[in-house]
Amino acid sequence: MSRVEKYVYSFNGEKTEGNASLMNLLGGKGANLAEMARLGIPVPPGFTITTECCNAFLQSGGSYPKGYEDQLEEALSRLEANMELAFGDPENPLLVSCRSGGRQSMPGMMETVLNVGLTSETIPGLIKKTGNPRFVYDSYRRLIMMYADVVMEKAEGIEAVNGNGIRNQLEKILAAFKETRNLQNDADLTEDDLKTLCGLFTERVATVLGKEFPDSPVAQLEGAIGAVFKSWNGKRARSYRRIEQIPDKWGTGVTVQAMVFGNMGNTSATGVAFTRNPATGENTFFGEWLANAQGEDVVAGLRTPAPINDATKRETNKGVKSLEATMPSAYQELESIRTTLERHYREMLDIEFTIENERLYMLQCRVGKRTGTASLVMAMEMLEEGLIDEITAIKRVKPHQLNELLHPIVDPDEESRAQCLTEGLPAGPGGAFGHLAFTSDDAVKLAKTHPNVILVREETNPEDIEGMRAASGILTARGGMTSHAALVARGWGKCCIVGAGDIAIHPSMKKMQIGDKTFNQGDILTLNGTRGRVYEGKLKMVDATEDSRFQSFMKMADAYRTMGVRANADTREDALVAKNYGAEGIGLFRTEHMFYSAGADDRLFILRKIILSDTEGERKAAVRELEPFVKEEIKETLKAMDGMPVTIRALDPPLHEFVPHSRAKQVELAEALGVDLNEIKRRCETLQESNPMMGHRGVRLGISFPDLTEMQVKAVFEATAELAKNGHHPQPEIMIPVTCDVEELVFVRKIVNRVCEEVARQYGLAAIVHKFGTMIEIPRSALRAHQMAELSEFFSFGTNDLTQLTYGFSRDDAGEFLPTYLEKKILSADPFQTLDPLGVGELIKIAVERGRETRPDLKIGICGEHGGDPASVRFCFKAGLDYVSCSPYRIPIARLAAAHAAIEASETKK
Ligand code: PEP
Ligand code: MG
Repeated sequence: MSRVEKYVYSFNGEKTEGNASLMNLLGGKGANLAEMARLGIPVPPGFTITTECCNAFLQSGGSYPKGYEDQLEEALSRLEANMELAFGDPENPLLVSCRSGGRQSMPGMMETVLNVGLTSETIPGLIKKTGNPRFVYDSYRRLIMMYADVVMEKAEGIEAVNGNGIRNQLEKILAAFKETRNLQNDADLTEDDLKTLCGLFTERVATVLGKEFPDSPVAQLEGAIGAVFKSWNGKRARSYRRIEQIPDKWGTGVTVQAMVFGNMGNTSATGVAFTRNPATGENTFFGEWLANAQGEDVVAGLRTPAPINDATKRETNKGVKSLEATMPSAYQELESIRTTLERHYREMLDIEFTIENERLYMLQCRVGKRTGTASLVMAMEMLEEGLIDEITAIKRVKPHQLNELLHPIVDPDEESRAQCLTEGLPAGPGGAFGHLAFTSDDAVKLAKTHPNVILVREETNPEDIEGMRAASGILTARGGMTSHAALVARGWGKCCIVGAGDIAIHPSMKKMQIGDKTFNQGDILTLNGTRGRVYEGKLKMVDATEDSRFQSFMKMADAYRTMGVRANADTREDALVAKNYGAEGIGLFRTEHMFYSAGADDRLFILRKIILSDTEGERKAAVRELEPFVKEEIKETLKAMDGMPVTIRALDPPLHEFVPHSRAKQVELAEALGVDLNEIKRRCETLQESNPMMGHRGVRLGISFPDLTEMQVKAVFEATAELAKNGHHPQPEIMIPVTCDVEELVFVRKIVNRVCEEVARQYGLAAIVHKFGTMIEIPRSALRAHQMAELSEFFSFGTNDLTQLTYGFSRDDAGEFLPTYLEKKILSADPFQTLDPLGVGELIKIAVERGRETRPDLKIGICGEHGGDPASVRFCFKAGLDYVSCSPYRIPIARLAAAHAAIEASETKK
């Protein structure tokens, strides 16, 4: 005979069957109720039906597995005996709640039915027993509403017409009823009112859903359990799972529990609380309660709940009475349960409670959600309190949560109430609000009178730099996560949303359209760059004050980290910011970015002369003119990072980005080059490429124009020699971009070696210490890594281009179709944000292996945008990279992600 599985687990003080470790089987709610019952905490007894039963039920199209029915009956009898009540009994009726509970909480997604067991037979018995008819009818009208909605409508797959489902209709009846009686609150409804309402409710249910409301307790219980299971496959739950990447096969548990009533009068109450403040992390008990109410009232926001204690009252609610003041003994007990639970779980918990006639019951506990700031504060305080150890403290803070600590953010409270206008890709972190400007010049002008400006552009190019600098936030209608706007904004730590495709911009008319709304220059918008959301008007910003614990937390995490973290930085200022955030060097100095910075007009002008020169003579002269600028910038950065490696990448400008578009700039260039405007226009046109990203860029430029290569390496070596002679310790690393064949490196290396010797001689030095290496950003160079390593002392993966070229997705245009790919689940993540482990990652692994075969001490890093993405950092650690490099503001995130990866690896080894 096959063994019958256990599908039903009772919890009832000492006779409890489950515990917290059975989370997968019992769901979070069921497992934690069992754990609390074992701890002797007052929990109304009950039982949990397993997630496996749910899966069996859903897979079979609605039949229960063998053995379930008997186990249910037995658990129910046990519950009846324990409560000394009987389910459906006219004299002594037991009422139960049915709640869902998955492995991971899915707030508001799944269903609950309370007061199951109330029928025409049990109602009089309960009235007699409690002497409180108002309470009984209040409970019944709640049951009708929840049951009709969850069991009779949603679980039956009935689509509400125009969103006007049964719950909505019943709520309207209730509201209209209150209005005719001139009542404000549900609590003001009398026994007769509620009785009348119950009649109106059942009538409406029968008319709309074509079935009578069930008057049998057993039918109600069966219906409720089945409906909770079915709610796992409800529309809302499915889309939530997709967003949160929760597997469909997890299923939900159902917890059936004896009802305790918070709506029995003014000595009863219900509430929710956090054992510490989830917004700030402060070690104060923080929660809300409502007298004479049932659980959903607190969450539904129908009445404004009051703070549970006096210490957490705010200016706006200081007049209301706390639970502490109203029912001191229940509050004291709750406070002591808070301590017991925190000591036991060693975590901040989110709890639900009900007080029935001054007697406290716990209905739920689970690990509480919290802000990034709160995570860090709690981790450090719990460590100090001895509740947790260092590794646990480090793991408690998710790397991306540090974002909040590094940038001002949109106040989450205000944001939750605001209506999102439109969405784009979250390209630059934090929040910003400001007056709209539609051109770079307007942004600069507006910023002179208004400190906060949002620059809105179709997409940006280097000509927008001044405006981007001046703006507090940047919004573009086109472009992906590695578009110009995204790269630049992220590098500066500036709030930025790109690819917000619903926006129609009319720069010449200084206005834009989002849906049917028009916004003019000067109007105010708020951006949440961390979530990619745009709001109308000004939302409050919360200052990201650096918590004093931040530094010690990072120091502690660093002790576990084995992989290096460097910065992508292109100026002295960025280098200093990066150092301050803990960068251990620069992994990518994009030479071309020195033409983007404020006041870079002179240099940009010379670069344009180089790009647009027609003869070798013209070009050589312009190249010579540029050298002092390049040398100065490199020298400043090497100095700022003294003693640390600085990877200076040879010019890699996709030429189209630097071609002047405005007539004024073209006229200026024509004059400087002594040719007419039409000639400049012609040259600009010849530079237009069909695929500039795959065109004349990177090492190809350095091979076509060796004098350009020579000028750059000369600048690097002279800067190094001058610093070394002045007692500094510069560590330059020359990096060649967009290579696909070792012969390219052979060509460039010859120039590098020659210039190095020349400069050393010129400065009277025996040698100029440096490294020479290449980016690996073309699939071919990854495959030919064994040869590339013959000439390279280091590799750095340029995963922006490597992703572009592996997928064949244009970095600049992917914003057009990637959202559809994600929505249709063709891709599970944007590969420009999170490194694709299967394709791009495979190339990385191959390159690491082949490169190190040739040169075992080959230093390997990554400098694509993925270097600051926690999941990608984890991949890099596993692939054996020596360091990751990312924009300065993401350095703490990368440091923490690298520490997590190292801890995880050592834990798996054990
Ligand atoms: C890359 O391609 O990943 C890279 C770092 O270079 P860029 O983004 O400048 O092309
Ligand atoms: Mg690149």
